[in-house]
Amino acid sequence: MSGNSCSTGSCGMNQNPEQIARQRQVESTLGGIKHKIVVLSGKGGVGKSTVAASIATKLAVEGYRVGILDVDIHGPSVPRIFGVKDRRPGMTDEEKMIPVPMTDNLKLMSVGFLLPHDKEALIWRGPLKIGLIEQFFSDVDWGELDYLVVDCPPGTGDEPLSILQMVPDARGIIVTTPQGMAVEDVQKSITFCKKMNLELLGIVENMSTFQCPHCGRPIEIFPGKGGEEMAKDAGIPLLAKLPLNHKLMEASDNGKLMQAFKEMSAFDPIVNVLSELKDKQPVKKEVGTTAAGAKAASGRKKDDRIQTIAMPVDESGMLDAHFGHASGFAFFTVDTRKKVIVEARTLTPPAHEPGVIPKWIADQGAHVLLTGGMGESARKILVNKGVDVVIGVAPDNAARVAQDYLNNSLNIAGNQCNH
Ligand code: ADP
Repeated sequence: MSGNSCSTGSCGMNQNPEQIARQRQVESTLGGIKHKIVVLSGKGGVGKSTVAASIATKLAVEGYRVGILDVDIHGPSVPRIFGVKDRRPGMTDEEKMIPVPMTDNLKLMSVGFLLPHDKEALIWRGPLKIGLIEQFFSDVDWGELDYLVVDCPPGTGDEPLSILQMVPDARGIIVTTPQGMAVEDVQKSITFCKKMNLELLGIVENMSTFQCPHCGRPIEIFPGKGGEEMAKDAGIPLLAKLPLNHKLMEASDNGKLMQAFKEMSAFDPIVNVLSELKDKQPVKKEVGTTAAGAKAASGRKKDDRIQTIAMPVDESGMLDAHFGHASGFAFFTVDTRKKVIVEARTLTPPAHEPGVIPKWIADQGAHVLLTGGMGESARKILVNKGVDVVIGVAPDNAARVAQDYLNNSLNIAGNQCNH
């Protein structure tokens, strides 16, 4: 495939069909999940994985259907926490990974399941890591869940960034300790989340105090106000202050976290906040390279597997470069998983008036429009109506173009007409 060379430069980010296809697959995979909660931290070792795993356990104990996805490729510790390091995910007929079931309503998937050795991830290069993360978001069969708790890699680098891009309707929880350094790192995380438009539910201050086993008095381990002060400064709720709990540490380090759920009463305020989300739909935002946010905004229903590809065609069934003046529009119903065209039809568009044809295309249920060229205002109307737009597609037989799109081998030649 040749590069994207839109001559207007205005269609920019909507044009990469591979990214569109990948995002579609992620949307499809996560489509049965009501709430996605990403647990982040500025640095490692603050208890992010323990907190993520404990939240998931508590929610499951409350009766919710919960998944925990551990994509902390620098140190995937969730299998260790749950004592399932030697388990491996199953595979569906459609080659999606089946998470490891912990109970009837708690499932677990971790990058750790795919790494032969604990230290393997450390030597992976950036693009490989991102590829693995993407696979984890697109190729896991979660089914229906109330909550997916994501244990995110620490920091504000490419990995958390690509996670937040892939899950635009996620909400975040930041974990920190009151220690000065951790606080500074977390401040960066807050800025990062704000830039990514992530809805932050709040901060969890972990290892806040230590309860003296002799006198029962709480002892401040780290000086300073830590999470409390930071939450106030950032205008974000402090969800909980979790004490350093020796029993929890032992359980977490020895694969017995689920048996220690009685030690998790300090997590109650977090679980309460999450329970209150039950019927609230998160705000999806438009991120990255697709019109995912616009789709949500338009409220248009779509079957993620069966999609409709539209394109302007001439009388001989060739893709027509002139979007606004094409004599017909081909609509291909396609199965995106099997990568086949299920049905094809050609319709005559309404008379060419500004904005009329884009609206008509959206009304036909198109998910994506492939075209040689088009003007910016038409493109905007389509994107706002939740239709992905690929501009600059080289002229060819329309059915072949649709098939190329399904195979991620679309030939992009640049915007050939912007009227
Ligand atoms: P991270 O995911 O941030 O790298 P982990 O969750 O792996 O951190 O926790 C690091 C260590 O701290 C683990 O040994 C874990 O058992 C321990 N730990 C985390 N939170 C607590 C807590 N509240 N009380 C006691 N130990 C904790």
